[in-house]
Amino acid sequence: MPENNYIKAIQEPIFETIAKASAELGVESYVIGGYVRDFLLKRNTPKDIDVVAVGNGIDLAQKVASLLPEKPKVSVFKNFGTAMIKNDDLEIEFVGARKESYHFDSRKPVVEDGSLEDDQNRRDFTINALAISLNEKNYGTLLDPFDGVSDLKKKTIRTPLDPDVTYSDDPLRMMRAIRFASQLHFNIEKASLEAIKKNKKRIKIISNERIVDELNKILLSETPSVGFKLLFDTGLLHIIMPELTNLQGIEEKEGQRHKDNFWHTLEVVDNISRNTDDLWLRWAALLHDIGKAPTKRFDDKIGWTFHGHEFVGSKMVYKLFKRLHMPLNDKMKYVQKLVLMSSRPIVLSQDIVTDSAVRRLIFDAGDHIEDLMKLCEADITTKNPRRFKKYNNNFKIVRKKIAEVEERDHIRNFQPPVDGAEIMETFNLKPSKEIGIIKEAIKEAILEGEIPNEYEAAREFMLERGKKLGLVPANND
Ligand code: ATP
Ligand code: MG
Repeated sequence: MPENNYIKAIQEPIFETIAKASAELGVESYVIGGYVRDFLLKRNTPKDIDVVAVGNGIDLAQKVASLLPEKPKVSVFKNFGTAMIKNDDLEIEFVGARKESYHFDSRKPVVEDGSLEDDQNRRDFTINALAISLNEKNYGTLLDPFDGVSDLKKKTIRTPLDPDVTYSDDPLRMMRAIRFASQLHFNIEKASLEAIKKNKKRIKIISNERIVDELNKILLSETPSVGFKLLFDTGLLHIIMPELTNLQGIEEKEGQRHKDNFWHTLEVVDNISRNTDDLWLRWAALLHDIGKAPTKRFDDKIGWTFHGHEFVGSKMVYKLFKRLHMPLNDKMKYVQKLVLMSSRPIVLSQDIVTDSAVRRLIFDAGDHIEDLMKLCEADITTKNPRRFKKYNNNFKIVRKKIAEVEERDHIRNFQPPVDGAEIMETFNLKPSKEIGIIKEAIKEAILEGEIPNEYEAAREFMLERGKKLGLVPANND
């Protein structure tokens, strides 16, 4: 077999169908982009396949669908000249080969029909411009005009054309370059990095949704700090998330220094990424210290302080999510909560770990107690092995205590055993502030361990507490 035959890459039966459809329509077609790249990298074969037709992509999609036994629906995006078919668990996108030219203030190019080469020219990176023929004359041949294969071997991200033009044309490519570097552990070629630095301000013409898509992919990569370091070095991060870059730097006063909270944060994100694939827990790690920039003070007696940074930080989470058009739903609330509680287990572990402190922690964290503990453990970035061990052991004690208290007192998501309705009925009350007072007192008594988390005890406690308020039980006989 000739050296550049990659028939192994196109073993899915769908490729034969596409070849057949192309032949019947008399158009050439090629698999291109991520599918080819990931095959050559021996990554998991992607479920999305991009096919380029030298001709009409929508017609080719219709033809392919008609040849498939399932006759899948064709989703047509007329404005983009693309069409999509879902077959088995594959998503196949068809596009006609095109030539693109850009206008300075938009990332929407003027598009005209073109050849395969034109289409490869408009691709973002050499490793994403690789195409494999689905045509009879050279079925399985790899077409690699920019030496993308050697860039794959060298682990290099490089643009097919002048990088300055490539990134200026479509600034989203700056985010994509960094995202691929982080996902694939690749280096970005020097000329590309320079061009990104030069064009960084053009990121402003990209929608927040697209920026966040790339940020999420960076966060989900194995070592997210690779991507965030590049975002920082190119200056993109200062534009996209100044809350984070404001954490960078060390100040010294009267011989006292605080740690660099930006580089610390990146370490925490890498640490947590070894323990979770959850995107939102990774976001919580990324944002857990953002309140430290606005709350930083120097106190003559105690040195550097960041009082209330958790509270300020959790407020900043909302603003940041809103600005970036991220969901303002329970995911956002989850991140806020973890940021707000991020110091609680630490404070607790520095002291004698009392049952009541642990009950409060479990009550406030609810189902997120495990994630909170993971975050705190990831937060230990000291390079001093003795200290590392000490902090880590403290958290082990906290975890053990949590398990014990949980088993005994069932505090997680607990509802006080006597509720507002019962209080109203008992004392024959209309809705009033006394009910709130008694309810809160019952909850406090349970968390403090003054009474067990049981109905009888809570009822008796309620009667006493009511008496103190001058309330008399109604005669309900
Ligand atoms: P993944 O699917 O893992 O995100 P991918 O390379 O397949 O990676 P897609 O967004 O699916 O990325 O895009 C498919 C192909 O389209 C890319 O491989 C690339 O050739 C081309 N492409 C995507 N976005 C751009 C862009 N902004 N500029 C130029 N070409 C692009
Ligand atoms: Mg893809």
